[in-house]
Amino acid sequence: MKLSSKIYIAGHNGMVGSAVLRYLKQKGYTNFILKDSKELDLTDQLKVASFFEKEKPDYVFLAAAKVGGIEANNTFRAQFLYENLMIQNNVIHQSYLQKVKKLLFFASSCIYPKFSPQPIKEDYLLTGLLEPTNEPYAIAKIAGVKMCESYNKQYGCDFISVMPTNLYGPNDNYDLKTSHVLPALLRKFHEAKLQSSPSVEVWGTGMPKREFLHVDDLAEASVHLMKNYTGNVSVNVGTGEDISIKNLAELIKSIVGFKGEIVWNDSKPDGTPRKLLDVSLIQSLGWKHKIELEDGIKAVYKNEFLEQ
Ligand code: GDP
Repeated sequence: MKLSSKIYIAGHNGMVGSAVLRYLKQKGYTNFILKDSKELDLTDQLKVASFFEKEKPDYVFLAAAKVGGIEANNTFRAQFLYENLMIQNNVIHQSYLQKVKKLLFFASSCIYPKFSPQPIKEDYLLTGLLEPTNEPYAIAKIAGVKMCESYNKQYGCDFISVMPTNLYGPNDNYDLKTSHVLPALLRKFHEAKLQSSPSVEVWGTGMPKREFLHVDDLAEASVHLMKNYTGNVSVNVGTGEDISIKNLAELIKSIVGFKGEIVWNDSKPDGTPRKLLDVSLIQSLGWKHKIELEDGIKAVYKNEFLEQ
């Protein structure tokens, strides 16, 4: 990838796409194609076809997706399946037709089996049943991984996919109905502190464990893979460390400075008990995360809530 290569970032306004764009700009890349969802509906086959025919990008980062936390995934099941399949079918197929040099597809660690041995190695994909709350999203993302692999095998494309763990960072979603746990807890504890509320409700039992990666680390890892990796294994990207939701809630409570109580609402689902990624493959390819969880949360809290 040269600094002048024509790079299309699908989903450049989202948390992942915007982090990739920031990182590439910082490294001196200059030639971007960016279209927001009003300019180009990626679920529309004809529009995506004419866009690719006109622009003919050299490289594609496929970060456009319908995403959300446990409640959104569980509620908007049809939309998560349909929209993600449409977006990735259109972008991957047109990338093949227009001879894109290399494409990187963002999958997700939630596509591994619910009860995978831990830490999860790349080859555990499709070895067991999925977590029911996000099964439709996972099925779509598994199809995306398999499309990259199949287009490489049948057509000789160079399409790779990455498997990020749970992400957080700038441009996250703070809507409590659809967000993931980390941004949700930042918002809940912050608002409770401002309103001097006696308690904050946190979902589930607190027992599940999750691994969290700052999206700037993911952006760096993706560009590293775009430059240094070709293959059909969807590469895990994470820190290799996880934390229980209970300890995460305590950590965010203390970063925010909330003095009240945590109340657990176990009528809400826990989801997968644990999904810690085995990151030995990406480490052997020369990449390791830089932002530790506490530092990352402090930075996000400062930027998103204290410097408005
Ligand atoms: P998941 O990793 O796909 O399960 O997605 P989430 O980030 O939405 O949820 C992770 C875990 O955090 C689950 O066990 C949730 O029940 C728990 N959790 C606790 N409080 C919240 C909250 O306020 N919002 C969300 N989204 N999850 C929460």
